[in-house]
Amino acid sequence: ERKQRLAVLGSTGSIGTQTLDIVRNYPERFEITTLTAHSNWEALAAQAVEFAPDNVVIANERFYTPLREALSSQPIKVYAGEQALEQVVRSEAVDTVVMALVGYSGLFPTVSALLHGKKVALANKECLVVAGEIITALSAEHRAPILPVDSEHSAIFQCLVGEPSPVEKVILTASGGPFLHKTAAELEKVSVEDALNHPCWTMGAKVTIDSASLMNKGFEVIEAKWLFGLRPDQIDVLIHPRSVIHSMVQFADGAVKAQLGTPDMHLPIQYALSFPERMPLDGPRIDFAELGCLEFFKPDTARFPNLGLAFECLRRGGNAGGILNAANEIAVAAFLDGQIGFTDIPRINTETLARATAIARPTLDQYRQTDAEAREIARSLLPAQARSRN
Ligand code: NDP
Ligand code: MG
Repeated sequence: ERKQRLAVLGSTGSIGTQTLDIVRNYPERFEITTLTAHSNWEALAAQAVEFAPDNVVIANERFYTPLREALSSQPIKVYAGEQALEQVVRSEAVDTVVMALVGYSGLFPTVSALLHGKKVALANKECLVVAGEIITALSAEHRAPILPVDSEHSAIFQCLVGEPSPVEKVILTASGGPFLHKTAAELEKVSVEDALNHPCWTMGAKVTIDSASLMNKGFEVIEAKWLFGLRPDQIDVLIHPRSVIHSMVQFADGAVKAQLGTPDMHLPIQYALSFPERMPLDGPRIDFAELGCLEFFKPDTARFPNLGLAFECLRRGGNAGGILNAANEIAVAAFLDGQIGFTDIPRINTETLARATAIARPTLDQYRQTDAEAREIARSLLPAQARSRN
């Protein structure tokens, strides 16, 4: 049987490197056509030497020359720039695109992959937050399946296997992040270091901050709507600090199915690639006797307004998710840069959502305009000395 040929976009990141672990474990099943990074050309060059792809892309053009030189003895094409990401995913030599870019940068490469009928193993939830309507329409029109990589959505997807009946609701579980028990006053003072210290998962910086602010869970609500065709009232969020249950599905007869596992992204990444099969995966297994009990409670949207903002975007529809995503990217970058406090993130998001132009049925071009406008507004809300930097 022919190997599955992968384009791994964002191969130097947390999801990207874990994807390459799976390829390393199953060389008879997978081969790599494309690897890409933004700036980390040294890691990209090392990956290229190991996996011998047809081509690599460095999105930040400043690093084209050193990457080119590092790979000069290899038969590997080297491209630079964000446009190149849209080109490489179209190749005849790609079966599956692993979409592990972070943020808005994932949108247009995902659109390109779907337009060309590629299977997309989707980690980049932001593209669904921004343009879920267009992404899911392209997937249907071009028969390009989207397989969820995000652990909650993979859990729901796994629960839905063999279930032809419509779901009553889905329950997305959330660890609650490092600040679960902090008061509103304490949240004002948390440091970048505290926010980067997630209790259950090791991930890229942006999604780690989003997890601490519950923006990540809010984005996952929007992601669930589009992946599974749900109404807002069919999506519940439940805090479950141990992260043993990755999410649940409730059916019309009251039955609830859950997917459980240790917190390890290799499983959902691998399942997205091997579906409908399961491939063996080494690692720790759940010890139920040791676990004792599982704890659940309702999220607090007063302390974590980002979660409420995401539900508001679901109700508003149109370009609202694009506004929220753009504002949040600016706010998170400013927080990581030490320019604003943690609780300024939801403040900037709320204010940008109130000010930016609402569009009911945006085209892809209008999503682009929305992104630019919302970034501009969010930047204007940063303290003066931070504006030029973000
Ligand atoms: P990382 O920050 O670890 O990696 C991001 C990757 O994308 C890197 O390869 C990076 O390159 C590249 N990149 C960053 N910015 C750009 C850009 N503007 N243009 C092109 N490439 C870019 O992120 P994660 O792997 O943590 O997350 C990726 C996606 O998966 C996110 O959408 C996240 O929400 C989602 N996700 C992640 C989980 C996790 O466990 N990490 C869990 C569930 C979902 P470079 O290394 O050069 O900077
Ligand atoms: Mg998740």
